[in-house]
Amino acid sequence: MAGGSRQRVAVLGAGIMGCCTALLLARRGVQVVLFESEQALLPGASRWNEGKIHLGYLYSGDRGLHTARGLLTGGLLFRPLLEELLGAGLPDVTTSPDLYLVHNESIVSAADTAGYFAALTDLVREHPLAGHYPGDLRRAVTTRVPRAELDGMVDGARFQAGFATPEKSVCTRGVAGLLAAAVQAEPGILCRTGTEVLGASRDGNARRELFRVATADGVQGPFTAVVNALWAGRPAVDRSMSVDNLYKPSIRYRLSLFVDTEHDLSLPCAVICTGPFGDIKNYNGRRFYLSWYPGGLVYASDDTAVPDLSCIAAADRQRIADETFARLGDHIPAVAALRGQATSIAVEGGWVFANGRGSLSDPAASVHRRDKVGIHQSGGWFSVDTGKYSLAPWLAREVAGRILGR
Ligand SMILES: Cc1cc2nc3c(=O)[nH]c(=O)nc-3n(C[C@H](O)[C@H](O)[C@H](O)COP(=O)(O)OP(=O)(O)OC[C@H]3O[C@@H](n4cnc5c(N)ncnc54)[C@H](O)[C@@H]3O)c2cc1C
Repeated sequence: MAGGSRQRVAVLGAGIMGCCTALLLARRGVQVVLFESEQALLPGASRWNEGKIHLGYLYSGDRGLHTARGLLTGGLLFRPLLEELLGAGLPDVTTSPDLYLVHNESIVSAADTAGYFAALTDLVREHPLAGHYPGDLRRAVTTRVPRAELDGMVDGARFQAGFATPEKSVCTRGVAGLLAAAVQAEPGILCRTGTEVLGASRDGNARRELFRVATADGVQGPFTAVVNALWAGRPAVDRSMSVDNLYKPSIRYRLSLFVDTEHDLSLPCAVICTGPFGDIKNYNGRRFYLSWYPGGLVYASDDTAVPDLSCIAAADRQRIADETFARLGDHIPAVAALRGQATSIAVEGGWVFANGRGSLSDPAASVHRRDKVGIHQSGGWFSVDTGKYSLAPWLAREVAGRILGR
């Protein structure tokens, strides 16, 4: 194995992918320069998302379970890998399991959802890593919620069925604070926040390739390897290196509600499936996530050029909050109590990059299949499509292992 101390690696993007990779490399003696266009670490999607530790229940539109198979290992390893990186446990920021509510307009019927969930739960239970999820899943089950119980929790007339699944989520705001502190405390990482990456180049040398990174503040380097973890910003920088690893992609910018209350409130963790609906997360009784997909979808395009959306008006955020509370409240009436008790409501979000296209309401759309993600390597250039927040610690371990082994 090459000595980590001889390597100097540029990590582009300080989301969960870039931060986990930078920590793993620096702790093995690699000198890391971490580039981020914003002033803060984890400023975007990795701070402001729902935090579902995906097992695949959301992807019933992919009947062949390709997406679920692609998500399982990373989801099951998420907790132990992240806890190792943070040197701390995650219990206070992990939710109770999700209730999946099959909407009357779901693109997958209740009967097909039941079949998909049963097959997936078998896969989860039999996975060699099933014991590592928050809550041991070696005996996991998915159960159909009795109609009377369902009607007590939601507006039953809007749903075909409800299923109690073993899938959990983590409070991403909490994790972002812990990860940022870990990166800042690591002497082997030089953080270049407020530095936009414009492109990169490779010096031709048959014995040892070296990379330079072009930023708005000038050219930086040389580096022995580069990890492109820019998420939505990744394709543009890959193109500057003549790397093309896209399969008919699309980008979207989504906003959701991050709500705090002073007193504990009882609200289920629920996902309205399958299609463009909404979700509720109750992290610890006082921190919540609410999303109504059509209301919070600010931008969607099959063109991967990223427009500047940094100035979304306060009035637009207020409209999204109003619509989210109203539409989710129509389906799950207890949401009204949350609005009444909220001490703060932040309307925040980030980019979603998908190797897939089309509308969530179209069963034939390729966006329902999300397994074309992961690491694209070209020599010392590593471009990572994180795919999901929950895949990041596992993909970071893979990238760091490849770099340390070079
Ligand atoms: C509303 C919403 C809900 C989601 N829910 C879930 C969920 O429940 N579970 C799940 O697993 N995933 C979820 N996701 C997806 C998840 O957020 C992402 O997969 C994950 O955060 C991507 O991490 P990343 O580190 O690759 O990207 P990011 O967190 O986006 O980090 C990339 C960083 O690169 C920076 N950057 C970009 N371009 C440049 C440039 N040119 N120069 C310098 N810096 C640049 C950005 O500022 C950013 O900080 C959700 C996403 C959204 C938006």
